[in-house]
Amino acid sequence: MRLIFLGPPGAGKGTVAHHVTQKTGVVQISTGDLLREAVKNGTELGKKAKSYMDAGELVPDALVIGLLKDRIARSDCARGFILDGFPRTIPQAEALEAAGVQIDKVINFRIKDEVVIRRLSGRRIHKKTGRIYNVNPGGYPAPTSDMKPEDLLQRDDDKPEAIANRLEVYRRQTEPLISFYASRKLLADIDAAKDMAEIAVELDPILGI
Ligand code: AMP
Repeated sequence: MRLIFLGPPGAGKGTVAHHVTQKTGVVQISTGDLLREAVKNGTELGKKAKSYMDAGELVPDALVIGLLKDRIARSDCARGFILDGFPRTIPQAEALEAAGVQIDKVINFRIKDEVVIRRLSGRRIHKKTGRIYNVNPGGYPAPTSDMKPEDLLQRDDDKPEAIANRLEVYRRQTEPLISFYASRKLLADIDAAKDMAEIAVELDPILGI
């Protein structure tokens, strides 16, 4: 099973990918996670990528394509993978095709900007566990009562100026991929504003899992 999850930041691609990996054993590959790891480790790639990421801009295609190709060449990808956050531009999608990577389905996460803004602005990462929480009223999952504000970290690119820019970048550079994959008859839409249990009801039959 080789899947692409396509959708704006904050659409819940990571959460849904986690659900599918639990159910099928395929691996989730998030280029955002790989890049954040490279930044944390201070690698050459990380140094080049950091300023783009902090501003909510896309990291140049050549860097991300190289990173992704190395990752999918690893043996744990043999049974399949979910690409979460890649491709994000037409040249990235073309690079996948040129490399002969066959994709079975592209899941298009449909969601309104206002829902994305609400989710991203409240998103926090619990430092100790790496788990994601949402501090907005009614946000899911809410931090537990034992968590202090200093235990929770906000990504630089989840700050308001960067969120607005990421949505704009998504519309301009990534949304054209919807028609790219529709024309290849690979696209399936899901309503990403629903919660995980409802999404599973819609998605699992599409994937046959
Ligand atoms: P994400 O965690 O998927 O929201 O990614 C965080 C940031 O990493 C993005 O805002 C980009 O700066 C960068 N990034 C992740 N994936 C890609 C990609 N496929 N192409 C270019 N930049 C990317």
